[in-house]
Amino acid sequence: MNPKDLSQQEMARIGFLSKRSHGNFIDGVFRESGSGKRIDVVDPASEMIVADTPDSDGGDVDLAVGAARRALEDSAWSRMRPADRERILYRLSVLIEEHGDELSAMETLQSGKLQGVARMIDVGFSAEFVRYMAGWATKLEGSTLQPSIPGPPGSKFHTYTQREPVGVVGAVVPWNFPLAIALWKIAPALAAGCTVVLKPSPETPLTALRLAELAAEAGLPAGVLNVVCGGGTAGAALCAHPGVDKISFTGSTPTGRSIGHAAVDRMARFTLELGGKSPMIVLPDADPAAAVMGATMGIFLHQGQVCAASSRLYVHRSLYEQVVHGVARQAEGMRVGSGFDAGTQLGPVVSRRHFDRVMGYIDGARREGATTLTGGGRARDAGCFIQPTVLVDVTPDMRVVREEVFGPVLTAMPFDDVEEVIRQANDSPFGLAASVWTTNLSSAHRIVPRLKAGTVYVNAHGLLDTNMPFGGYKQSGFGRDLGRAAVDSYTETKSVCMSV
Ligand code: NAD
Repeated sequence: MNPKDLSQQEMARIGFLSKRSHGNFIDGVFRESGSGKRIDVVDPASEMIVADTPDSDGGDVDLAVGAARRALEDSAWSRMRPADRERILYRLSVLIEEHGDELSAMETLQSGKLQGVARMIDVGFSAEFVRYMAGWATKLEGSTLQPSIPGPPGSKFHTYTQREPVGVVGAVVPWNFPLAIALWKIAPALAAGCTVVLKPSPETPLTALRLAELAAEAGLPAGVLNVVCGGGTAGAALCAHPGVDKISFTGSTPTGRSIGHAAVDRMARFTLELGGKSPMIVLPDADPAAAVMGATMGIFLHQGQVCAASSRLYVHRSLYEQVVHGVARQAEGMRVGSGFDAGTQLGPVVSRRHFDRVMGYIDGARREGATTLTGGGRARDAGCFIQPTVLVDVTPDMRVVREEVFGPVLTAMPFDDVEEVIRQANDSPFGLAASVWTTNLSSAHRIVPRLKAGTVYVNAHGLLDTNMPFGGYKQSGFGRDLGRAAVDSYTETKSVCMSV
């Protein structure tokens, strides 16, 4: 790391990074990878290397899965009193908050996100979510059933269900909310009594490693949470490992599809949280000022690298100019810079590779006939900064409208008729989120059931709640994170039938 680029205060907050090379966290200790290969972690604002972590292989994964299996079967964890699991998870939520400065600084350094976003989501929401899941450890339940089983006169049966931990969980997560999404997997799995091997993104492994240390400090026994760093090789090895009972994946749709196939081959359980191309529909009776702010936040929060980003904006023709030009004006006024600077409103995208990908979509859209209302270029001479971009004159068949860009790029389209806009909104392989903007309650209730998306917002977009299941229809996923649905997905239901 080059200390010149970070203030002393920032450096002090990231004590973990006084060491540059990090190992995997397996069975309660940091270990070197057997692969001998390393991956650099790069700050996308300065494009300087800030750390390196292992590019793990199947051997490392095997060690971690072995540790998780032993912890499941031999250690106290799955047999621990639920109240003790709850206490440890609660303690972890406190440690996440106590180390909030350090964790949020690490998130900004490795992903470029604004400190405020890291604080609010990766630290604040995560701590709240771990607390929420801590509570579920003591509340899992089965049911007593009324059987109609035939038998000889006088026979009687007692039947009931109980929930049991699914076993060893392999969690594979992306780079956009590294700590938060890791905890979306880890917290419900631990609440249910499972053990976990986490494979963070190669771009953003640092907070996962620090989290593993904090979890140990909170009292998690060795082997219950393991972190194996690396890229697709490590991820694929984890998903294919016969010792993994459930795979919990968040990432792109193509990777998710291949993981789903591999999981079905050996009948491993799986949850997939995948990509999105979420529509935002502004009806003629919407509050235009609220729609402008909603669309601006919906697409530019975290540089558009949000799975539920409102990347397709459909505005009724009567409000089209007002809303779309309003968003463009907001975009033009955004201060682009380092996520560490308090005044910054838009940081860099995560990497040079992703910068090139997003710019490729913008250039391709122009070639296909789109007009750049604002933005469309790089925002600074150095670093992975892209101008907040609004594209108009787009058509439903353009790649920029159909595919997930995952960057600060909005496509805006006018509509005249509600039936037409519902059809266009649903005309996508994705179905993660959607929003309707209206002051008419009746319109909202009529449209919500017709939108094919896992979460539909009214006069809001992209909000999360610990208690609200989150996941996708269609190619946006399979299963749900958050809420009770998540903890249930880390259990198997056992039916017990007793002749009494
Ligand atoms: P990605 O699919 O490239 O990678 C995700 C993870 O999978 C990484 O850890 C990667 O190393 C690993 N991986 C890569 N190939 C693998 C393989 N063959 N087998 C197993 N693991 C493999 O996605 P990304 O670029 O890191 O993240 C961006 C994507 O994540 C976007 O599509 C975004 O929409 C999606 N996402 C979805 C949600 C959601 O909740 N639905 C949330 C955040 C991000």
